[in-house]
Amino acid sequence: MTPTSLPADETGTETSADIADLGLAWVPGFSTLGPRFFTELRPTPLSSPTPPYWVGHSERVARELGLPADWRTDAVLEALSGNIPVAGTTPLATVYSGHQFGVWAGQLGDGRAILLGETAGGLEVQLKGAGRTPYSRMGDGRAVLRSSIREFLCSEAMHGLGIPTTRALCVTGSDARVRREEIETAAVVTRVAPSFIRFGHFEHFAANGQEDALRALADYVIDRYYPACRATERFGGNAYAALLEAVSERTAALLAQWQAVGFCHGVMNTDNMSILGLTIDYGPFQFLDGFDPRHICNHSDTSGRYAFNQQPNVAYWNLFCLAQALLPLIGDEELAVAALASYKTVFPAAFEGRMRAKLGLTSPDEGDRALIEGVLKLLAAEKVDYTIFWRRLSHCLADGNAEPVRDLFLDRAGFDAWLLSFWERHAQVPRAEAADKMRLSNPKFVLRNHLGQQAIEAAAGGDFSGVATLLALLETPFEEHPGADAYAGFPPDWASTIEISCSS
Ligand code: AMP
Ligand code: MG
Repeated sequence: MTPTSLPADETGTETSADIADLGLAWVPGFSTLGPRFFTELRPTPLSSPTPPYWVGHSERVARELGLPADWRTDAVLEALSGNIPVAGTTPLATVYSGHQFGVWAGQLGDGRAILLGETAGGLEVQLKGAGRTPYSRMGDGRAVLRSSIREFLCSEAMHGLGIPTTRALCVTGSDARVRREEIETAAVVTRVAPSFIRFGHFEHFAANGQEDALRALADYVIDRYYPACRATERFGGNAYAALLEAVSERTAALLAQWQAVGFCHGVMNTDNMSILGLTIDYGPFQFLDGFDPRHICNHSDTSGRYAFNQQPNVAYWNLFCLAQALLPLIGDEELAVAALASYKTVFPAAFEGRMRAKLGLTSPDEGDRALIEGVLKLLAAEKVDYTIFWRRLSHCLADGNAEPVRDLFLDRAGFDAWLLSFWERHAQVPRAEAADKMRLSNPKFVLRNHLGQQAIEAAAGGDFSGVATLLALLETPFEEHPGADAYAGFPPDWASTIEISCSS
């Protein structure tokens, strides 16, 4: 023992550190925008007689951040729960506004997320659920265990699927109690992304008539994330119109991926739209079980504004809000309209491309749209399980056995007719290459509500193994994972009774 350290029993705690060092180099990022954009503050420690605990963690994200191999120390556990500071950081909460359910909601902001800082590797690290901020309004600044596990697993599931998303390093849990519909326990998600800037950040400064702040924000985003917009010859060299077009295109590409994989976001408010085209703010999301285009996954969404088949149009509506916010910088309504127009060509082309890949088709053909529409119609008519259908169809292409996929339909004649056109189309495509493409475009594992629910219930009882098991499957969802078929089966009957609302 060295003279400077005391054994645990003499200090009275396991952790003698009052500051944690993640071993990361932190650089000025969002903070360079200045105090109009945020409030500096420290996370509020979770008050509980018992120390926080690890609920789940991603070694993949740890590696991307450049954390050392033994990063999960007690001090880091305390720091990522908001209980002690992280060396080298000046935490802050950012201000934004937004449209919620189609209605201007005014100022919102990071009500429970606190940005620790940006790493030299260009990743921002944020603690979600780390206490109240000046933007908390009526909220308590906390996040409950169940929604934190859902966000953690879905972030990593989306990444595993190849879909742009904010990431999650870990969830730490605590016995601190929080009130929702019932009393629950608090957790913190450590989120990671190149930037957490939302459409709502732009709307905020536009709505307040702060044009110089709006310009500073747009310049920051262009310089850091969309440098090509500076050099554009499009729109008469208007960098802000080019930014709007680039964001529209990324958003279109993202929505194409959501629709192709059957992902329902549930709360596509403009404050939940990433300026980088990332999936952000996992709340009442759902991967479709049976294919129902009108599915509403958010129990609070009584009008179905964010139903599955509305998502592409809602994204466009949200981009329109962004366009309005950027208008003072673009300076010409016609340019803004022209910049937005790309969405209407990029989305259908990207969606068709994704669906073609799901069908194992390596090059386009004019009959593809009919093939895609035909199969979606069949799936919708009987609400066939979306993920299982596509995975079985992949196997069918590989081994020629159509029975398992045919078994999914009551309307056998309808399916057989479609399958014939599928085989005819594949007569022109090399089979092995197509089967590989299909397998890599049709996941075996998605984060179905009931799977998340089972992991959450176990975790609430102190067993975190279900979270780790799901994470391992969802990180590589296109692999077979022998022995894990139970996670790739049909949802149980009770799955349809799970109600997920905005309460988190
Ligand atoms: P969401 O619908 O989760 O994206 O949240 C919308 C707004 O409400 C954001 O400004 C959040 O920061 C804020 N918010 C949500 N839950 C809480 C909470 N428990 N405490 C403080 N703010 C919250
Ligand atoms: Mg949000």
